[in-house]
Formats: sequence, C-alpha cells, structure tokens
Amino acid sequence: MVVGVLVELSSKRIDKVFDYNVPLELESRISIGIRVIVPFGRMTLEGFVLNIKENSDVNRELKSIIDVVDCDVVLNDEMLQLGRIMQEKTISTLISCYQCMLPKALKAKNGSSINIKYDTFYRLGNVNNIKLNEKQNEIINKFKDNDLILRKDLVDISLSSLNTLVKKGVLIEEKKEHYRVSYNNTVYEKKELTVDQKQVVDSVINGCNDVYLIHGVTGSGKTEVYMEIIDHYLKMGKSSIVLVPEISLTPQMIDRFRKRFGDKIAALHSALSDGEKYDEWIRIIRKDATIVIGARSAIFAPLTNIGVIIIDEEHSDSYKQSDPSPRYNAKDIALIRGKTHKCPVVLGSATPSLETMARAKKGVYKLLSLPNRVNGRRLPDVEIVDMNQEMKKSKGHFSLRLISEIEDRLNKREQVILLLNRRGYSNFITCKNCGYTFKCPNCDITLTYHKSSNTLRCHYCGYGEKVYTNCPSCKENSLNRLGVGTQKIEEEINDIFKNARVLRMDYDTTSKKGAHEAMIDAFKKHEYDILLGTQMVAKGLDFSQVTLVGVINADTSLNIPDFRSSENTFSLLSQVAGRSGRSNKSGQVIIQTFNPDHYAIDLVKNHDYLGFYQKEMFIRRQLKYPPYFYICNIRICGRDASYIFDEALKIKKFFDNNLDNVIILGPSGSSLFRINNIFRYNIILKYKNDSSLYLVLNKIVNHYNSNNKIKLDIDFNPSQML
Ligand code: ADP
Ligand code: ZN
Repeated sequence: MVVGVLVELSSKRIDKVFDYNVPLELESRISIGIRVIVPFGRMTLEGFVLNIKENSDVNRELKSIIDVVDCDVVLNDEMLQLGRIMQEKTISTLISCYQCMLPKALKAKNGSSINIKYDTFYRLGNVNNIKLNEKQNEIINKFKDNDLILRKDLVDISLSSLNTLVKKGVLIEEKKEHYRVSYNNTVYEKKELTVDQKQVVDSVINGCNDVYLIHGVTGSGKTEVYMEIIDHYLKMGKSSIVLVPEISLTPQMIDRFRKRFGDKIAALHSALSDGEKYDEWIRIIRKDATIVIGARSAIFAPLTNIGVIIIDEEHSDSYKQSDPSPRYNAKDIALIRGKTHKCPVVLGSATPSLETMARAKKGVYKLLSLPNRVNGRRLPDVEIVDMNQEMKKSKGHFSLRLISEIEDRLNKREQVILLLNRRGYSNFITCKNCGYTFKCPNCDITLTYHKSSNTLRCHYCGYGEKVYTNCPSCKENSLNRLGVGTQKIEEEINDIFKNARVLRMDYDTTSKKGAHEAMIDAFKKHEYDILLGTQMVAKGLDFSQVTLVGVINADTSLNIPDFRSSENTFSLLSQVAGRSGRSNKSGQVIIQTFNPDHYAIDLVKNHDYLGFYQKEMFIRRQLKYPPYFYICNIRICGRDASYIFDEALKIKKFFDNNLDNVIILGPSGSSLFRINNIFRYNIILKYKNDSSLYLVLNKIVNHYNSNNKIKLDIDFNPSQML
C-alpha cells in the first residue's frame, strides 16, 4: 500500500503531497483523512493522508510512514473537499486550510499533545464460587442497584481493596474518556412563539433550503426563533450549527441553549482550553453532541447530516479571518456547507451588513422580518446629546442630561449600562508643547499607555518602554495623556455617584477564565447598579432591570479611515441601544456625541435601519465600494522597502495588462506601513466579476513563491482596510 501525505513545510508557501510506503502492520489503520508520522529529510513530520493507492508513480524508492496518529479520521470527505474549495477561493495553501479547520490538538503539527483524561469505573465480574470476607461483600453489595460505579463515588473504600477484587476477577475496571466540560441539565420553560416568530420559523422549515436573512429588531425574539428551528431539525435526527461573534458569545446565550438542549450542545469558543476544545470536538465526531454553537471556526464542526446553519449577528466582522491565511469568511463557508447538506442557512441581525441586505433586496436571499419586540414591548427612546454644547457644563465625560438620568435610575433601583466606545481608539501620550508622540521603533504605530504597569506598549509587536515625565524631543514637562479608558470613567462615576455600585467589564477585567460569566451573573442578580464596558456590553446581553443605556462617546469609531466606519458605528449604537427596556419597563438611551448631525448617529434615534441602509448605499455606489463592487487587497510585504516597492510597481503593471474592467489602486504604503520591521504596500482591486482575476492572481503568487525577499497576502473582501 502507498499513501499520498500532505505535510506542512512552514518555510515554503507550497503544498506538496509525498508518497510513502505503508508497513504491513499499519495498513489496517490507514484511511483517507487520518494523520500519520513520516520521515522527511532529517525530520519527522505529521501529515494528512490524502490518497491511498497500490503503487506510486514516483520513480525512486519510497520511504515508509513511521506511525498512524489517530483512531478516528480527523478530516472526513466533506472537509477534504471543503478545504480544496477554500484553497481555491482564498488563494492559500491546502495545508493551511486543513489546519485552520481543526482544533489545535488535531492539527498536523509535532509536539502538540493533549492528554486524554479518564474516569475509572467498576462493574461486577464473576462472583460465583469465590470466597469473600465481610468487607468485600459490602463492596459487592453496592453493585446490586448500579451496573457501573465511578471510582470517586466509592467513598471510604481504599484503592488496594478494589485492586484485590479486580485481581480475583470479581470486579472489572473500566476506563472511560472524561470530558472536561461539564453539563448540568436544567428545566426549560418553552415559550409560546408570537405570530411573527411562528411565521419566520415556518418559512424556514417549510422552505426550499434557501439562504434566509432574519432582519429582527433587538429583543424581537430571534434567539427563540433559532432554537425552534433547531428543535425541528433535531426531531428529524439532524444536526445544527449556530455561529455567534466572539464577544457576544456571552454565557447568557450558551446558557439559553443549554437549558433547552442539554448535553446535545457542544460549545466552541476561545475561552476553552485546548483540552476542552479537543473534548468538544471528539463529542461532535462521536455524535454525542449534535448542536454546535461557537465562534468563527465552529463553522468547520465535523457534523454529518446538518439540518440548518444559523449565523447570529451576521454583520459582525469577527466572521472574517484577516490573519493569518486562509483569509476566509465563515459566512461563505456556511453557504458552501449549506449546499453540500442541502439545508437552509439563516443569517440574523438587527442591523444586517449592507452586502447581506442588498442580496436580500435582490431576492438572492429570502428576507424575513421581525419588526417588533415580543409582547408589544417598545423599542427604547433614544436621545442625542450634543457634547459641543454640553462640554462646558459637563462633569468629566458626563453631560448633565446623562447624570440626571443615571441618578433617576439609581433612585428607582433600576440598572444602567454605559458604553465606552473604544473602537479604533487608543490611549496615547503626546507632548502639548511640540506635538511629539511616542511611536514603536519597529512598527509605525503609536504606543499605547498602560496605567497598571506605567508603560507604553506596541499592540502589534509587543515592544514596551517606561513612561517619561519630560518630552524626549523638547525636554519640556508637558506630556499629555489623550484618550480615556474604562478605568478613568469608573473613577469619574465613583466621584459623581457616591453610592452607585459599578461593575467594569473590559479586556483587562475579563481575561481570567470564568470572570466574564461571573460578572454577568452578578449584574443579573443586581449586585451592581451600573455596568460599564467596551464593545463587550453592546451585544447579546439580556437584563430585565436595565432601563437606561448611556453612550459616553459615540464618535471614536466614526473617525477610523475605513469605508465601513459609518456602518460599524450605526450598528454598534443600535446594538447597545437594544440592551435597554427589554422587559416590562420601558427603556431609554442617551448618546453623547460631537457629531449629532452625522447620519450614522442621527438615524439611531428612530431605530431607522432602512433609512441608514438607503443613505449608505447611495454613498457606496458613488465611491464604488461594496456591495456595488467587490474588493480584493493584495499586500506586498518584505524587509527591503525599496525592493518591494519596485516589485509592487511590476505587479501593478501586470494587473494593468491582464485585467479588464478592474479598478486598480496603488501601490500605496499600508496605513500600518511597518510592522516588526516588515514593510507593507497595498494594491487594491475593485471589480464586479472575477472571471480572469483568479488566473492572474495565481500567476503572480506562483511567480514569487520561491522568492524569500517578498511575501504576498491576498485578502478577498477584507474586513478592514488598514
Ligand atoms: P433577540 O435575540 O432578537 O434580541 P431574544 O430572543 O433575546 O431577542 O428575546 C428577547 C427577550 O424576549 C428574551 O428575554 C426572551 O426570553 C423573550 N422572548 C422571546 N420570545 C418570546 C416569546 N415568544 N414569548 C415570551 N418571551 C419571549
Ligand atoms: Zn511594534
């Protein structure tokens, strides 16, 4: 037997499948999609078996594989095929596509080993004709009502007494794999769906396996709809995938799914350890879990017989992997898997991305609407506070309007959520006298101030330095901290509202495992009055006592040089507004801004998504941006800036000569021109159809493949234009 094995050669950006002989004793364990260990030059590598044949076409003596790694196939037929499509669509290597589909423990890499944990059980063996003493009989009696008893449950019994019984054959020891994630099933109260919800569910389950967009306002009961659809397919014996963006992968959402579906759920997200991820994956492969809920990469869950794929908050840019390659979008993968499994794909959002809504309007996707909150609850009233006027009267970052409303809620014993918008925002230090800013010596990035360690750090390469008191340039004592962090706002709150209990939720306070859950729990129990946080508090949270949402600074995300900055701002503000007034008490939202007339802020007032959509579509058409044009970004990187600039010019020329009807921009220095001493130039392509594009791009990639001085990153539909 000969097998073709795909190995990872990190030094080269090429895929190679090498033939190996299979020793006779390993033949029975070989199948396509399994990992094997092979000799490669002087190294031993792990690789995936991609094909099995009798003889090799190679005219030299083959080496033999050393061992087989897995018992179960890690890449099934569907995934093998999906990897090939991904490779083609993203112009990346096949091995990188397969690696990104798998949890760390199953990637074909050396040195990754996750120990499987076992639970020890005992069951009765042969008791007849064996003389036992009183104590031993006592042990045996425990097995009258239980076939299997966990070692841990045999309290007060020593291991040596158990071992004696095992030796006699009276007890049989069994080891079963112990899953690291535990589940407690709770009772679920099924909600009677509203007429609107029912209509949406029916359209999906009685439809023709189309792609659906559920445009439902915040609190319209989308999650209930998802669960009902999943339940329908579960009853047919089919599995489901639910994707949620990482930050909204709140414990609350998983909790609701767990309550309803118990241990049918496998949850895949970044808060799990590698071991936990591995366990969840194995539960999926063994069909113990048939409903997978997770962030981006959960789209690769090795489910068979999928009934539905649901993508919640479909507008979220977390579904796009920007780096490293393969730069795929989980939404595209969902569409491919939907076709393979002949199942519906459901996209849901209160603020759909323009691309998705445009497709829905054209009829490519079926549009379903939930225009109202459940049970006649109203959307909150939104008030915009013009900080240009208010600034003089405000205390710190709080306008008098916001202060008086917070006081009102505190008196009424209701809860408040405050958003500090830190999207595209940094905490940097500048000199008031000469304008000097601290930059990273390796990257062209302003250093960020970290209060806890009193250092300046680069978020790209990790470079750090101590904070000076005097400006290194003009030597004046005039350094000024710009920007504001959650810590500062927390201090202000404590100052203004002396008795308020504040809970701060940001990257720092939630980094410890379980911290996020504990905070949400505590806030739900009303142990705090005010929840202050970054983007984390904007999505997916459902607290019945929250009747006021305040946005400290709506503007920062508007200032990012990206064609999606208006869309992202509108969507963030709409999402956070949606946290207010979700139960019987009506809700209010106060947005503080320096740009009260900007349409992305003004249209939040009336929850006018469609108004925003029309306005923004008009601008996108003018500027030839998506969804009117597709965008592909070609990033040309290398250490020698002038060399790669020359090559970038050649590439542009090649595009000019070989691409028709494509707008070619650049090459221009990327806005992060230098990262870790690697220089970056971008060429941006705008196009309506990609007929010859792939051919041309592949030619260029192949041309530079063996050139170590230059690296090309190709990004279709990039989520950021940095
Ligand atoms: P969305 O995901 O659209 O923001 P949710 O599914 O979270 O909305 O629903 C908002 C709130 O309304 C939740 O507290 C949910 O439990 C409740 N809810 C949803 N559907 C119903 C229903 N049919 N009857 C009663 N309450 C419902
Ligand atoms: Zn740096």
